Amino acid sequence: MGMKTDVVIVGAGPAGCSIAFGLARQGHSVVLIDKKSRDTIGAKVCGDALSPAYYEQLHEALGFPLPDPDYALRCDTLVYQGSNGNHFYIPSNSGTVDRLLYGQQILEELEKFDSVTLLSSTTLKEVIVEGDTVVGVRVIADEPLEIRAKITVDASGVNSVVRKRLPDGNYKFPVSTPRHQRYVAYREIIRFDRPHDYPQQLVISYQPELEELGPSYFWIFARDSHTVNIGLGYTITPQNRGKNIKDINTTIRDRMFSTPAEGNYKILASQGDQIPAALPLPSCVANGLLITGDAACLANPINGEGHGPALLAGISATDVIHAALQTDDVSEKQLWPFNIHVWRHYGKLSAWGIATMQLMDRHSPKIIDEVIDTRIITQKEITTIITDTENSLDMKRIVFRALKHPRMTWKLLTLKRSADRIRSHVEDYPEDPEGFETWNSRLEALV
Ligand SMILES: Cc1cc2nc3c(=O)[nH]c(=O)nc-3n(C[C@H](O)[C@H](O)[C@H](O)COP(=O)(O)OP(=O)(O)OC[C@H]3O[C@@H](n4cnc5c(N)ncnc54)[C@H](O)[C@@H]3O)c2cc1C
Repeated sequence: MGMKTDVVIVGAGPAGCSIAFGLARQGHSVVLIDKKSRDTIGAKVCGDALSPAYYEQLHEALGFPLPDPDYALRCDTLVYQGSNGNHFYIPSNSGTVDRLLYGQQILEELEKFDSVTLLSSTTLKEVIVEGDTVVGVRVIADEPLEIRAKITVDASGVNSVVRKRLPDGNYKFPVSTPRHQRYVAYREIIRFDRPHDYPQQLVISYQPELEELGPSYFWIFARDSHTVNIGLGYTITPQNRGKNIKDINTTIRDRMFSTPAEGNYKILASQGDQIPAALPLPSCVANGLLITGDAACLANPINGEGHGPALLAGISATDVIHAALQTDDVSEKQLWPFNIHVWRHYGKLSAWGIATMQLMDRHSPKIIDEVIDTRIITQKEITTIITDTENSLDMKRIVFRALKHPRMTWKLLTLKRSADRIRSHVEDYPEDPEGFETWNSRLEALV
């Protein structure tokens, strides 16, 4: 059996759906496939944090559905919590969302477009390449099916199955993301029998168990007045092999929530998965192919935030794919502007994340605890580090405050230098594929 379409998208998570939505509005035919059954698409092991800024921007640009307020909580505070109770409270416009319900709402909107065909319970089997161009995929549903497309999109999440199944060739990206560039992450949704202590808060917390894990983090995110999503993530380095993430989570959870004052709680869901912990792929395109979302490592390595980036990348991807279809040119060169967008935006944001991971790797995650304790960095500066793509941190002020802590100052200066080097290299991302090799060798030397 065979089908023809303008664009086939593998993966109906946020990355795939935002592109499908944008292209359908432009009148292009789209086949969206997902291995999950129709009623489970959207269900994803996740901390559920999603800043409303992401879906609001996507709504404005593409008319993308806003989540129903019944299952999207607005949070106003981001808390960095140290092991001895010290905090940074950072006012923020953030939130959490029920991934299954939002995913299902998006699918219902997508199904209103005649030009979108959703194939659920359909698994990618092979990528079809002719010459040096990707021309579609073979999938398995009830029976094998070949889908021919002008452009194939890999939005299949952290395992990037299209990338992985490409035949040998000369690509500008690795065919899989190495294990040490991924977080293993585990989450639980727990419901208390009384209102919990984290109303409208997203808490990132340092816990003593993280000390041995290298780059890592523990979170508590409010879902509603009685429910929180908790969990932890750490990089899959050789030293962490054999550790049991579920047990580590249980130890932390029991310590944090088992005092009588917390009341009783029920665990509603618990599961683990992986998140990319790397800079974006050096290139996210090839002839006839565009890679996005976790498959392209767009999640921020500082905290594994990938839902928003996966959604928002759909704006640029839609523009680039639309232009390619209009000009009937699906070459790598024509799709290249997506790389420029990804690097100038997510590459820049991830620079601090990568530099922080390097710092935690060298000095253990306890350094974050020490930063909170010593107050060398203010709440406002932390916000700048997390959200600002411009180089606007005033190091002189930090150094002045840090005179009492010379060792810490040195570590923070090293962090800033690493982040700056990556950011300034990102600025030089080549305008077309010709400049790529030189740029990429410098990147490899930097990271
Ligand atoms: C424990 C944990 C906690 C996290 N917490 C947060 C958080 O709080 N906030 C945040 O922003 N991000 C968080 N993330 C990351 C976030 O979940 C991802 O970044 C986001 O879901 C990426 O979206 P995506 O569309 O790229 O991929 P996904 O959401 O993974 O979607 C990929 C889709 O592809 C489909 N697929 C995969 N393989 C195939 C195949 N062979 N054939 C057909 N279909 C296939 C899958 O079924 C899936 O529906 C967390 C991740 C984990 C694991």
